[in-house]
This record gives sequence, structure tokens and C-alpha cells, in this order.
Amino acid sequence: MPDLPKDVIQKAYVVRGGLPRLVLPDLAWVGGCSNSAGWPGRANVKPVTHEPCMAYVVLGQKTIMFDTGHYGLWYSLEGQLEAMLQGRPLDYVFVSHQEIPHTGNLGRLLAKYPRAKAVGDVRDYHLFHPEIALDRLVMMQHGDRLDLGDREIVFLDAIWKDLSGTLWAYDTKRRLIFSADMFGYIHLADDHVCGTMLHEMDEALAAKSLERPALPFTGMRQRDQGARVAAFRRLMAQFPVEIVTSGHTAPIMGPRLQPAIEQLLHALETSPPRFLQSDAGDHGRDPGATHG
Ligand SMILES: [Zn+2]
Ligand SMILES: [Zn+2]
Repeated sequence: MPDLPKDVIQKAYVVRGGLPRLVLPDLAWVGGCSNSAGWPGRANVKPVTHEPCMAYVVLGQKTIMFDTGHYGLWYSLEGQLEAMLQGRPLDYVFVSHQEIPHTGNLGRLLAKYPRAKAVGDVRDYHLFHPEIALDRLVMMQHGDRLDLGDREIVFLDAIWKDLSGTLWAYDTKRRLIFSADMFGYIHLADDHVCGTMLHEMDEALAAKSLERPALPFTGMRQRDQGARVAAFRRLMAQFPVEIVTSGHTAPIMGPRLQPAIEQLLHALETSPPRFLQSDAGDHGRDPGATHG
């Protein structure tokens, strides 16, 4: 990707809508969107859709970034991080799983923040990143906790996985879950959507923004999802959720949180979406989307 002209990358990976945003005093929302019209041969395909490629930084007594942000967004992400961290170091980077939109910037981040450590199911990251000292790759398993001073981060086995090692993360102070590929949503290209949260939208726009889930590739339609939905409900009973974040969504919180969760769980149990739904009227996978 570094060999591609800058403008090609910046047409495919866009930053719009006021990102980055300090959503709460201790929660920064960073990233951008993958823009379907920026992909070769797709400039005229309508409607133009965006897949959010987001990451989050929890600003506790220590700091942790949830996923690294998409590799193609680094041109903006580096400055976004500096703006959000305000000179503070990044102490930890949580890697949910090995896909490029989620952890493609790990090498760059650990080079930029020399005291930061990667935490997650890092069993094979030394193969992708032989340049990273082994003691900076810290293995976490379901139930492990990381102390940030004013809260703990709990690592959770993902109920829906893209890859065998997918983990989710939970912030005990904010009751925030970072669910990797779960609760991702494709939206129409609209600057008012990219950096806007559901509870900041009017009802029609919020409903539209939840129409096209982008979900883990786990055979949602091939297997009965009832047991997984039940497992997710048990997880939420144990770890109450007040904010949902993921690699492909704006933060979901406030009055629209429970309805959004219930809408997705109901869809999974009754008529699960097939892979991504990036194109209206076309339920196949959007080759322009970067999710995987
Ligand atoms: Zn967008
Ligand atoms: Zn993803």
C-alpha cells in the first residue's frame, strides 16, 4: 500500500464527519470509513456506501487503544491519535484479531509508542511482526484482566468470531464493550453520518443507519444462531453493557442502545444477514468493502 499514490488511498479511505471525537472525557473515537466509490472500477456504482473502520482509545490512568485502526487510514490516524492523547503515551494496544482493518497498524503503533505493549490473543503476531520484541506481545485469554489504574479491561472470548483467536474487550468503568466485528454497520456516503452517533440522529436516519449490518464471517445463515444469542445475553448479564463499540461502528449508547442490540439479535435469530450488505438490492459481498 505505501507504493500506491496518496490520492488513491485517500479516495478509498476517507475521514469525514468531524473525526476524531472525544466522545467522553476518557473515550476517544478515531478512524474513518472505507469508501466504495474510491475503489478501482466502482466510481459509478450507486449508491455509494461507507464501511466504518474505527478504533477507540480509553484514556484511563493508563491508556489502551482498541484495535489499531485500518492500515489505509494511517495517513490521518497518526495525527488523530496525537490530538486525542494530548502528549500522553499509549500504554497498550488491544488486538482483537489479525485482519488488516483491525490490527494492520500494530507495527507502526509500537514503533511510534516505544513503551506500548500489544495485548490480546497474540499467539502468532511474532510471525507478522518479527521486528517487535517478544515481551511486547502479551497473551490474554478469556477472563484475563488488565489494570489501567482507574478501571480494568476484561478480555472476553468472542461469541461470534472471524478467526479462531478473536477476543472482545470490556471496560469495567464505562461498561463499554469493544466487539471487534459484531455491531458493525454499513452506511450511505453522507458526511452527517460518518462521525455521528445514533442518539444524535433523528429517528429516520438512525433507523437507516442500522439497516445494513456488517458482521463476522461465521456462517450466520448456515447455523442456528439461537445458542449464540443466548450466550451473548448471558455475557451481558455478567458484564452489563452501556456503550457498544466495534471496528465498524460509531459508539452506540444512550436511548438507542438497547433497541439497536435487540434489533440485531432478533435479526440473527430470525433472518441473519448474509455477509455484508453493502449494496442496496445486492446481498452479495461488496468487493469494495474492506471488512473480512
Ligand atoms: Zn462514513
Ligand atoms: Zn472487521
